[in-house]
Amino acid sequence: GKKRRILTFSQMATTKVPEVRDITRIERIGAHSHIRGLGLDDALEPRQVSQGMVGQLASRRAAGVILEMIKDGHIAGRAVLIAGQPGTGKTAIAMGIAQSLGPDTPFTAMAGSEIFSLEMSKTESLSQAFRKAIGVRIKEETEIIEGEVVEIQIDRPATGTGAKVGKLTLKTTEMETIYDLGNKMIDSLSKEKVQAGDVITIDKATGKISKLGRSFTRARDYDAMGAQTQFVQCPEGELQKRKEVVHTVSLHEIDVINSRTQGFLALFSGDTERSRLRSASRLTPKCVLFIDEVHMLDMECFSFLNRALESDLSPVLIMATNRGITRIRGTNYQSPHGIPIDLLDRLLIIATSPYTEKETRQILRIRCEEEDVELSDEAHTVLTRIGMETSLRYAIQLISTAGLVCRKRKGTEVQVEDIKRVYSLFLDEARSSQYMKEYQDSFLF
Ligand code: ATP
Repeated sequence: GKKRRILTFSQMATTKVPEVRDITRIERIGAHSHIRGLGLDDALEPRQVSQGMVGQLASRRAAGVILEMIKDGHIAGRAVLIAGQPGTGKTAIAMGIAQSLGPDTPFTAMAGSEIFSLEMSKTESLSQAFRKAIGVRIKEETEIIEGEVVEIQIDRPATGTGAKVGKLTLKTTEMETIYDLGNKMIDSLSKEKVQAGDVITIDKATGKISKLGRSFTRARDYDAMGAQTQFVQCPEGELQKRKEVVHTVSLHEIDVINSRTQGFLALFSGDTERSRLRSASRLTPKCVLFIDEVHMLDMECFSFLNRALESDLSPVLIMATNRGITRIRGTNYQSPHGIPIDLLDRLLIIATSPYTEKETRQILRIRCEEEDVELSDEAHTVLTRIGMETSLRYAIQLISTAGLVCRKRKGTEVQVEDIKRVYSLFLDEARSSQYMKEYQDSFLF
């Protein structure tokens, strides 16, 4: 069998992991693609409708406070639980936090059920999730050459070979630099964007050429360049600027890279010998790990979390659950949200509550815009009523299906009839249970 390895956090940060398998991730981005933030004003007060968020004011206000604490780095070792009934926007709020933190803050999301796999032990997948969530800032220093393009010359060797040879002459402020280009690169230079007169910069380490601050080098181009490019003349002095590039990578990415042949240095694009690493690492204080359906975790996992939260390296842990008092998995004890009391005790708990009719209506309106489905006012009213009587999520599901039925009949706006049709085609939870009760004798058990 496979040996189970449980690492402490300091071990995790330094240990070379020989082989890394990725945990499978359940992406629920589509359902929340309309969420662009928490919709708060400068005083952290939630606006009724903003950034795709509707209502749920108290929890959004609380999430805003958490967000500020994450930004200030004051929340390490703390954890947040978002608890509430299904479809009350728990995941949406977590997504709102992620969006507000921006792309530079590592935000890792997983569902509690993901840890149950035959491939990996539960604690191993949890520690992998933690390592994914811990970001390391790495500074790289590269040399940049800036200059105006004087001429571009393409010398074709014997016809028929298809190969091209390129030469780009750069006029810099002090002297001329000649830059020889790889076969493929010359295509993008000559045909695409660069012309004589353009001011461009060349990153010496990666060979990446940018114009007007916008890079147009395609990845596959500078692979080819890496091998073939050389500086014919290398000017000294002011012409070469140093530029610091800061990357954020996660510990998990470092593990993956370590398990491959090039090792850690493969983190840096291009020729690493020429780029100098200044400060190799700084842990980012604002990393977030989100575990949805946290009641799916069992006792072993909860004790892992308890321990992990005590580490200095711990990311901010945000969890969500829609369970009330329920059995803690792996035990016969009941507890609120199926979470052991000692862990519950250290959590900041945010509660979400059901939506009013008006809020349901607004959320459905936003989802219709997101899914590009036009809805008549009456259809919108009927859909809102369905949302109130069944569930918000069910009503959201009917949007794209009704849109499809509408397009099928060559309509441009979903009418009540279309909603009725999909309502009869697809059962909501209550009708499905009813159906089961009525016909249970005909099902196999
Ligand atoms: P569950 O307990 O079933 O996991 P949940 O509380 O996580 O449910 P979500 O998945 O966040 O609920 O919400 C269901 C749908 O409604 C999602 O598409 C979500 O983006 C949307 N939604 C929920 N609340 C809001 C809100 N306040 N504003 C805008 N959209 C929302």
